[in-house]
Amino acid sequence: MKMKFCSECAAPIVRLIPDGDDHLRDVCSQCKTIFYQNPKVIVGTLPIWDDKVMLCKRAIEPRYGYWTLPAGFLELSESTWQGAQRETREEAGATVEEGMLYGVYDLPYISQIYMFYLAEVKDGLHEAGVESLEVDWFERSQIPWHDLAFPVIKTMLERYFLDRDNGTFSTFHETIEFRPRVHYNNESGD
Ligand SMILES: [Zn+2]
Repeated sequence: MKMKFCSECAAPIVRLIPDGDDHLRDVCSQCKTIFYQNPKVIVGTLPIWDDKVMLCKRAIEPRYGYWTLPAGFLELSESTWQGAQRETREEAGATVEEGMLYGVYDLPYISQIYMFYLAEVKDGLHEAGVESLEVDWFERSQIPWHDLAFPVIKTMLERYFLDRDNGTFSTFHETIEFRPRVHYNNESGD
């Protein structure tokens, strides 16, 4: 998000490389406050119950109507596990009590980091939150592979079933180097 005016003194913001720095920053032209921008952390869970996986159908853009795992932006003053629990409660109405850090994804091209916990849902109880059209449990054979919201969700689920086949779960890390194709208005075709 672009800032135009300083939140400290309301003077215009300029873009420059401060002394001793090596990145362009938003800097106040008057009070010289530097506004650093850093990657966003997205936390979530892969909720499990009775050999089934929980998925949520998105009630918001992007990817409205596609299936995803409960996840969202980490809040200030929150641990990643607390954030993952909160998102699971808000989006899926489900309580996860113990979780294992399972999947960590770096997406440097959009400056995001995903952290997913593998977590058991007590009694399998759930209820769709405001950001979900519906929430449901899926057997392996029922996973809507072609209607998943994001590549990272597909990768997570594939990894989970692979680990389940091998009978062992361990934390993994992946860097996704994907650059979406840029479309120009004067370009024809797809
Ligand atoms: Zn200022």
